[in-house]
Amino acid sequence: MKAVRFFGHKDVRVVNDMEKPSPKGEEVLLKIGGAGVCHSDLHIIDEGTVGGTVFTLGHENAGWIEEVGESVKGYKKGDAVLVYGPWGCGHCKPCQQSKENYCDHQSEMAYGGGLGLNGGMADYMLVPSARLLVPIFDLEPVVAAPLTDAALTPYSAIKRSLPKLMADEFVVVIGVGGLGHVALQILREISGATIIACDVTEEKLSFAKELGAAYTINSKDADAAEQIQKITGIKKAKVILDFVGATSTIELGTKVVSLDGDLTIVGLGGGHYQYSMNGLPFGVSMTNPYWGSRTELMEVVGLARQKKIHIEIEKYKLDEANEVYERMRQGKIKGRAVLVP
Ligand code: NAD
Ligand code: ZN
Repeated sequence: MKAVRFFGHKDVRVVNDMEKPSPKGEEVLLKIGGAGVCHSDLHIIDEGTVGGTVFTLGHENAGWIEEVGESVKGYKKGDAVLVYGPWGCGHCKPCQQSKENYCDHQSEMAYGGGLGLNGGMADYMLVPSARLLVPIFDLEPVVAAPLTDAALTPYSAIKRSLPKLMADEFVVVIGVGGLGHVALQILREISGATIIACDVTEEKLSFAKELGAAYTINSKDADAAEQIQKITGIKKAKVILDFVGATSTIELGTKVVSLDGDLTIVGLGGGHYQYSMNGLPFGVSMTNPYWGSRTELMEVVGLARQKKIHIEIEKYKLDEANEVYERMRQGKIKGRAVLVP
């Protein structure tokens, strides 16, 4: 079968000679319908954040059950499912609570399919347990695949700040890419706060307006923080969701976050922050959330089935993987790119 394989630093190749796996025990084999292309792949490919192993990329996966191992119950061939991405041990307390993104054993395990283990940019994917599947019912796998990360990650980040996102407050979203464009829609649907969106191109900023941003600011502007404060007034923004995570965006966040606010850094842009008592208003919680839980993914599927969120997708073939990654490096993808076998 065909697969998009990571061989090492800046070395991604499409191969045709992978063996189609066959599931045993708890395992499930999926026929892939779509695999989302996440910016985290670029951190792996360009910065070598997962070193030493060769594996199939793709950690945003959806498809149909092809075959199940002998101990799997409750699924039959043809059922449409998502693959929950952060694979935990399945036994520790966070895993029992469905929060495998915070599995106690994360430091000693590969992070999951497409992140050290074989992922879904292939004709078929082997999932280690049916526990990691979430049914999508009438949703189409190719459109639903990015729900597993581009929607789940912002959903989980927003949910933890929800009590602060009241109608008299402001929220700033930095980066209107794969995750950010869904974050805007989730905020529009589940929170009351006024949304201010930041990106670096006019295209992304007008896209943000279509998705619920009341205001847009180009974060490359030297006075971006002042522009935001003009909108919020003295109270500043209660919640900042940074989907870039560069030093410059973290600094922007510290300048516009309010007293007792949340500064949430989701982007893995390699930024630095030096704490100083006068640099941050009192009471700010600075967090770096990772992905979301299995039950939150079920809630995200509910939002999509009710048509409250919609993933804007660009479809490509597996063979085009390297071209797609290049488009992403240049910030040219609108919404999410999805590879279709
Ligand atoms: P993406 O490439 O689809 O989007 C990034 C967006 O940020 C683009 O629209 C780009 O124009 C914009 N941008 C770049 N520099 C900017 C700046 N200085 N100010 C404002 N906007 C800027 O990326 P994505 O797939 O949405 O991922 C975003 C980040 O989140 C990546 O770093 C990714 O690795 C990370 N991520 C983290 C988690 C997690 O669990 N913490 C999960 C998934 C992705
Ligand atoms: Zn991702």
